[in-house]
Amino acid sequence: MTTSSARSAAIIGAGQTGVTAALGLLDNGFDVTLYSEREQAQLRDGIPASGTALIFGAAQRAEESLGLNTYLATAPLSTGQSVRVLNDGAEDVAFDGWFDGARGVAVDTRLKADDRLTLFQQRGGRFVVQPVDPERLDAIAAKADLTLVATGRGGLSSLFPVDPARTVYDAPQRSLLAFTVTGLPHGPEIFAHRSTAGGAHNAFTVVTDQGESWWGPYLHKDAGPTWAFLGWARPGSDWERRFATVTSARSALQVTTGLHRDYIDWDLPEVSALRVIDEDPHSWLTGAVTQLVRTAVGHTASGHPVAALGDTAVAFDPIAGQGAQGGLVQSAALVRKAAAHDGPFDAAWLSAAFDEFYDHRARAAQLVTRLFLADPELSGYGGLFFAAASGSARFASKLFGLLDDPRPFESVTSEAAAKQLITDFTGEPADELLARFVPAGTFQRSGLAFSAV
Ligand SMILES: Cc1cc2nc3c(=O)[nH]c(=O)nc-3n(C[C@H](O)[C@H](O)[C@H](O)COP(=O)(O)OP(=O)(O)OC[C@H]3O[C@@H](n4cnc5c(N)ncnc54)[C@H](O)[C@@H]3O)c2cc1C
Repeated sequence: MTTSSARSAAIIGAGQTGVTAALGLLDNGFDVTLYSEREQAQLRDGIPASGTALIFGAAQRAEESLGLNTYLATAPLSTGQSVRVLNDGAEDVAFDGWFDGARGVAVDTRLKADDRLTLFQQRGGRFVVQPVDPERLDAIAAKADLTLVATGRGGLSSLFPVDPARTVYDAPQRSLLAFTVTGLPHGPEIFAHRSTAGGAHNAFTVVTDQGESWWGPYLHKDAGPTWAFLGWARPGSDWERRFATVTSARSALQVTTGLHRDYIDWDLPEVSALRVIDEDPHSWLTGAVTQLVRTAVGHTASGHPVAALGDTAVAFDPIAGQGAQGGLVQSAALVRKAAAHDGPFDAAWLSAAFDEFYDHRARAAQLVTRLFLADPELSGYGGLFFAAASGSARFASKLFGLLDDPRPFESVTSEAAAKQLITDFTGEPADELLARFVPAGTFQRSGLAFSAV
């Protein structure tokens, strides 16, 4: 062990969470070694991004608190989100919400990790390319004062047992398809049928018996300002069958174009203008996430305590965009706490740090994700919230504010509490607001006549 004046930290996993924590600890005087199973060039160009990683105010402030680039100056930003709900075939709910002060920014996780890894090494951090197994982790943790495991949902996560008291699901709720495409700008003419903000608002669609789809501005590592698609397919749905056929960026775009032709035709002209990013064969991803919380402190074979960070600690279905945000908030809080701490980083200290993060963010973030997944236990509230959002621009704003700060939703444990939240957010009695709801009838179709160059 080193003395408190030259404390050492080992971080396993050089995804965006691990690299962010590594750089933060280094800048706070720690002697930091970051272990990665891949070379830096492979991390940037040899794998897909681990998610879309749209983040809002709190996560951006977490990055700023560590002196890191938020990319707000260079990425195409989103200032709101439009919603369409096709309810059992009926064009039911349509509204356009503006984010409540926050701006969304979705940056390629590979770009973010690569930029931070470069800085980390320039500032004297040690980068070791070596897959770390439990035996190796034991040796690493024996030497470091603080050992953090940020190996994502796979990797070393099995060292941290699932916490049944904090976990609801034992299987993924959706199959996922995510990819990035180019060819469409972000001006007011894009998605103008959904929002006066056009391409500055994300486009979210729910097709109740199939799943959900989302388009949003994205900063791709090579192609720069682009568009990201995220699709969620319910188990056994036609969308799930279609997602399973995707084997390349080209087929991802083909499948998604077909899906819009058959289910979401109001957005088809925008989708038809999109092109794959030729320079990035890894611009797409399929899979599924079981949302869960792990016991975030584990012990190596010789008994050294190690803590889980990011997806290793808490995994989210991406429907409410909580994973990357949580990892950044957790990293920044841990760095701040570690820098201020004078004693050993023992299991009690590590557990307390995780519990703080769980209480402050992760518990509410899991709940809000369940809300947007239309979890049967919460779906009654979801219906109320979308109806309220179509009648109140203020509520729509506050509803999307939950993606940034999910905590206000924690008080919602009954229909009465859901209505109270609507009243609190809008200053208007919920029943009066909900009584104004009128089904959309027919969604406006895109009139985009865009010729891709
Ligand atoms: C489709 C999709 C869309 C998403 N959209 C959003 C969104 O809009 N907003 C949001 O906030 N979140 C979103 N997320 C979640 C977000 O992408 C993840 O939470 C985040 O990228 C996880 O980062 P991480 O660094 O914790 O893990 P990872 O990115 O998985 O990084 C782990 C790293 O550890 C390395 N590693 C693994 N095992 C070892 C080992 N044994 N030794 C050494 N290294 C190892 C891996 O190679 C990898 O580099 C989305 C997720 C998905 C799947």
